[in-house]
Amino acid sequence: ALEAINIHKSYGEHHVLKGIDLNVKWGEVVSIIGPSGSGKTTFIRTLNSLETLNKGTVNLMGNPFLKDTVLTDKSKPFKEQIINIGMVFQNFNLFPHKTVLENIMLAPQYHKVYDKGINQLTAIAMLDKVGMKSHAKKYPHQLSGGQQQRVAIARALAMEPSIILFDEPTSALDPELVSEVLKVMEQLAKEGLTMIIVTHEMSFAFDISDRVIFMEGGHIVEQGSPEALRNSTNERFNQFVQNIN
Ligand code: ATP
Repeated sequence: ALEAINIHKSYGEHHVLKGIDLNVKWGEVVSIIGPSGSGKTTFIRTLNSLETLNKGTVNLMGNPFLKDTVLTDKSKPFKEQIINIGMVFQNFNLFPHKTVLENIMLAPQYHKVYDKGINQLTAIAMLDKVGMKSHAKKYPHQLSGGQQQRVAIARALAMEPSIILFDEPTSALDPELVSEVLKVMEQLAKEGLTMIIVTHEMSFAFDISDRVIFMEGGHIVEQGSPEALRNSTNERFNQFVQNIN
């Protein structure tokens, strides 16, 4: 579904991504873990051009999407393809002055997936999927962080993307609200959604992922299925996992 080849990214002199390769298949759930500052967030942001990349290629559904620098906004391949990548952010990023339902309906309209947005029934079905149907008329500030994040997930789903990127989706939540968001994500994984998840929730990553990727210092240092990684001989990876547990 998505292929990233030799991705490099620097902020000034700071070389943050040092040649990342990643090939994600349809329906695959890939979690990216690693120490703070290893480049996890930067990497997934380059995949949907929220960060420009200095070098490298991103192919989406077999089509070139980005190469070396971001294709311009006006280029056809970019416009056609960017809507295939959904994103869920750490801080939800809902429109504060719109209701939950409006938040869901506006996203596809804003991104011009459909000329007139999606119809209300579809939006409500998305909310139902994340257990937020009864909150459709509320505003984001009336919701807990966990509820806001579930709305943000419904909003991403409303775009009917081929893949959803999750950037530390539970990091901003109070501990007691984490599990409701993880449950929704687990359900989506079971349904076969293609997902890339940057997370610090190690047991969650190992439970739901087909593949776990360990990044450090701008490199992928270790990767494999959760089962394979339990027997990893990579010293850095094992040290990281031990320190977290
Ligand atoms: P964390 O788990 O703490 O979120 P991470 O692995 O996601 O860490 P990134 O957020 O990708 O790491 O950051 C990687 C490095 O890039 C860090 O050293 C960070 O300070 C730097 N960095 C990130 N964004 C910028 C920016 N906009 N300008 C300059 N440096 C940045």
